[in-house]
Amino acid sequence: MKRVLTGRFMHETNTFSIQKTDMALWRRRDFQLGNEIPAAFRGTRSALGATFEAADKYGWTLIHPVSANANPSGIVTDDAFEQIGGIILDAAERQGPIDGVLLHLHGAMVVQSYEDGEGELLARLRRTLGPDVPVVVTLDLHANVTQQMADNASALIAFRTYPHIDMYERAWQGAELLRRAMDGEIRPKTVIARRPMIYGLDRGRHQAGPMAELIARGEALEASGEALAVSICAGFSRANIRDVGPSVTVTVDALADGASPRGQAVAEQFMDHAWATRDYESFTLLSVAEAVARARAGEPGDKPLVIADYTDNPGGGGYGDATALLRGLVEAGVEGVAFHAICDPEAVMEAMRAGIGVQTTITLGGKTDPKMGGGPVTLTGEVTHLSNGKFIAHGPMGGGLERHYGPSMVFRVGGIDIVAITNNGQAVDLGQFTSLGLDPTRYATVCVKSMQHFRAAFEPIAREVILVDTGALCSEIYTPELFDKVRRPVWPLDPA
Ligand SMILES: [Zn+2]
Repeated sequence: MKRVLTGRFMHETNTFSIQKTDMALWRRRDFQLGNEIPAAFRGTRSALGATFEAADKYGWTLIHPVSANANPSGIVTDDAFEQIGGIILDAAERQGPIDGVLLHLHGAMVVQSYEDGEGELLARLRRTLGPDVPVVVTLDLHANVTQQMADNASALIAFRTYPHIDMYERAWQGAELLRRAMDGEIRPKTVIARRPMIYGLDRGRHQAGPMAELIARGEALEASGEALAVSICAGFSRANIRDVGPSVTVTVDALADGASPRGQAVAEQFMDHAWATRDYESFTLLSVAEAVARARAGEPGDKPLVIADYTDNPGGGGYGDATALLRGLVEAGVEGVAFHAICDPEAVMEAMRAGIGVQTTITLGGKTDPKMGGGPVTLTGEVTHLSNGKFIAHGPMGGGLERHYGPSMVFRVGGIDIVAITNNGQAVDLGQFTSLGLDPTRYATVCVKSMQHFRAAFEPIAREVILVDTGALCSEIYTPELFDKVRRPVWPLDPA
């Protein structure tokens, strides 16, 4: 029986956030240890769900010490990295012999002492396990992949969809590779190519454009057997670190292609295309005034206009408490609006004290960093719903997993139903409205905070989707002052 170490340790670090990601933030949601993990993931369409299925199919003994997935936020504290990484490394050391590893990481984690959190973790794991144990890693396509990660993993397998709806499939692909490697059929080895660019590949949008082109080429190479895996990562650009940016990794079989010159050549060709298309962008951001005008033009009974606040996206490290769009809608007297969400634990507590059905005045949002996204807004209305914020997400990105947004409320101000939550998170599932008694299909306008993930669930119910820039933390601003730790020269800071 093969002994396989698995686990999940995922964080997308926005280094511009003032919220340090400490143990309290890690524990706030999606944090399980040991036997809590099969209970949470077996039978779900998630990466760990696939891992349990693969273990059953191949008769592996699975060692699953930790699953930790903090919402994107600021730099991870050394303490949290050592605690959670330490759980994985301890298991590798003490629960051996380990025949193989299938880890689910993000790839854009920045730690106080390590710009490349995943690279550091994988280097330590490699030192513990030695050179021969296959280590297969799944990544988010917004990973900032480094040489250190490629050197210390046997294979890197990134998602291929944005919205990310293929975590389950990628984990199965990783499990198959791991099985073949443990059986001695193949010896996976991964090479990487990069270019001097902070962003590119349309930030990972796979529906058309350069990302679609490279994913298709990579899948053709996998189908032909020329590569074991090809991963195209768009990178995560809200990170002031040396190695920010897109990458291509190619995993080849070292038994068949010892020095793997072909893999490196392929990776370089792919990155030539990423470089040539670096300024391709398929999205447009509107101002708050433009978005509010579009909402006012809506007719009752239409399918909803969906407005996504791109720059306060909690999925990119945004604080989720920007008020600029909400304020614009209130001031313009727009009606028939469902607004998700303001992350504001204090406001939810106030609403709980006030109780349901009472007129009350609450100061909402803008508290994390009042300079960003509009500052606090004081509104008078009625609390119409209170909840513990838990529900099962059955949407395209949900996989049947329980989500936990903490104490939550609906606050009705004029014709606007405002959701406020305790645990930050972007809108990716209709359940984020329906679990609070709101049917998003019945509103003229639905507001969410998200760059792209919302589309999986909300595009099908929308008459139109628009993106708005509220001046919050994820604004697309690139200056040498903000990116003073990035390798230079680099596009777009320096002329190409
Ligand atoms: Zn992502």
